[in-house]
Amino acid sequence: VKKLRIDKILSHLGIATRSESKKLAKQGRITLDGLTVKDSGLQIDPDLSVLEVDGQAVRYREFIYVLLNKPQDVVSATEDKYDRTVIDLLDAEYAAFEPFPVGRLDKDTEGLLLLTNDGQLAHELLSPRKHVPKTYEAVVLGAVDAADGAAFAAGVTLDDGYETMPAELEIVRRYELEGEEHADIRLTIMEGKFHQVKRMFEAVGKKVVFLKRISMGPLQLDPALAPGEYRELSDDELRSLR
Ligand code: URA
Repeated sequence: VKKLRIDKILSHLGIATRSESKKLAKQGRITLDGLTVKDSGLQIDPDLSVLEVDGQAVRYREFIYVLLNKPQDVVSATEDKYDRTVIDLLDAEYAAFEPFPVGRLDKDTEGLLLLTNDGQLAHELLSPRKHVPKTYEAVVLGAVDAADGAAFAAGVTLDDGYETMPAELEIVRRYELEGEEHADIRLTIMEGKFHQVKRMFEAVGKKVVFLKRISMGPLQLDPALAPGEYRELSDDELRSLR
């Protein structure tokens, strides 16, 4: 059995510091299986008993998995000198787990970003050998056509000489905007090279002017999440990643 101090659990979850926990206990605001706990240093098995603070159940867990709809203008990092980070978007109770983004989206890219403190899962999702597919929606400036689809399916050479793996292009709509040809597209890629989608379109002489990730492996962007909103993964989603 795994025994943990109550004050450790509460501080790990961002609910109370160690000294605050001591006070809460003294004030009789902490209960275990309905009984008041006066000693915040008591060791408990959080899986076997119900811990409550002010009548609110405390759900202890080691890992969190957060599905974020990343907005533009925030960076996919845990810290940054100048910019707001994806971690800054989280409430303290989530940030307390010290999650990090699984892979990166550019500052001006929106969409699905998984945040977790589960290093092993992150490693597996990012492993180049796993070829986890990622699907993006983009607005492209230029006349996207079937030849681009064929080029992406065969693999294109990026500006640094890298040859992309076969990718799938779907042209959703072509139209003129301010006198210039544009296309709404979906592109599924198997790797995650720096600026990959933008550089793939550059390789065929076109420019990505809007980019949003809509899926990563089995995970889909939740349409209920506005940019900047997030939720924890469901049990089904988490199972699908394992
Ligand atoms: N490709 C890009 O060019 N940018 C991203 O943020 C993700 C994929």
